[in-house]
Amino acid sequence: MTGEDDKVIPVRVALRCRPLVAKEVNEGCQCCLTFVPGEPQVIVGTEKAFTYDYVFDPTAEQEEVFSTAVSSLLCGIFKGYHATVLAYGQTGSGKTFSMGGAYTSAQEDDPSVGVIPRVIRRIFEEREKKTDCEFCMAVSYLERYWTCCVRLKTNQPSAFVKTPKRGLRSIVGLTERHVSSAQEMVGCLELGNSARTVGSTAMNAASSRSHAIFTITLEQRRGADRVDSVVSKLHLVDLAGSERQKKTKAEGDRLKEGININRGLLALGNVISALGDESKKNTFVPYRDSKLTRLLQDSLGGNSHTLMIACVSPADSNMEETINTLRYADRAR
Ligand code: ADP
Ligand code: MG
Repeated sequence: MTGEDDKVIPVRVALRCRPLVAKEVNEGCQCCLTFVPGEPQVIVGTEKAFTYDYVFDPTAEQEEVFSTAVSSLLCGIFKGYHATVLAYGQTGSGKTFSMGGAYTSAQEDDPSVGVIPRVIRRIFEEREKKTDCEFCMAVSYLERYWTCCVRLKTNQPSAFVKTPKRGLRSIVGLTERHVSSAQEMVGCLELGNSARTVGSTAMNAASSRSHAIFTITLEQRRGADRVDSVVSKLHLVDLAGSERQKKTKAEGDRLKEGININRGLLALGNVISALGDESKKNTFVPYRDSKLTRLLQDSLGGNSHTLMIACVSPADSNMEETINTLRYADRAR
């Protein structure tokens, strides 16, 4: 055993390319990406190759993405590390599909469910196994919309606990809900999804213009009197669409939103790039440059592991945005 698990690689980058969707096929779009078998590499057009930690081609199933790229972060969680999974990409590239953000409990055994429901299942399975340990869990679902934090509305305000339990740190303005079963945790995801702000742009009739952050805080208490406590935080983030504004014909407030959101993505790119660069160890990490990075600060760098899933469309009509995403992801690595 080399202890691959314990070696702290702060940032890993996965590229995921979805299949052509019906609309693209109907419009006669061609695939502009080539995948190198057995290599985590993708080639755009005929020239430029990009290499990442993982590359998932359009045939990759949700299970493969989870077991290859996400599962090891969860091992870290149980050892007290923090973790963040970020889905980045233009609107329509597969972020919400990959994260499992549109999950409903009707899909329970559906192989198409994404990261979040799989993470929830795994955490509760682990709890069953760890009988020597008491688990205390809380979740929060936050939508970072424009420049202010919006707490997702719920018709059960009393269910939210304002003061987190001992050992659980909270973000100002965000409430956590304590949960004791997988069903309850999934319920929070569904509740949050139904409250997500969805706006319409020319790119996609229901494009999300906000970052959705689903956070699981896990406290494990060991020892006879349960005083030996380890707290880890897992952020699962479906980022706002990374597309350039000119393409979406955004105007007025929409345009302003786009600018603010892109500032967050830019700051995130800078933070991740600083964390991933060995030569920049101990140098300044610009967390304070955006609300998004400040919010994620305790789970980016330090005692934490980050996975960025960069999502792209294979269609030649999206090539410009795809190249932007490939570059952003390349810089992160
Ligand atoms: P985003 O959240 O980035 O805007 P979505 O996750 O909504 O994009 O994906 C856009 C469309 O593509 C959806 O209809 C979704 O079901 C489909 N899709 C995305 N990724 C995949 C995939 N890996 N396999 C099959 N369909 C996918
Ligand atoms: Mg989405």
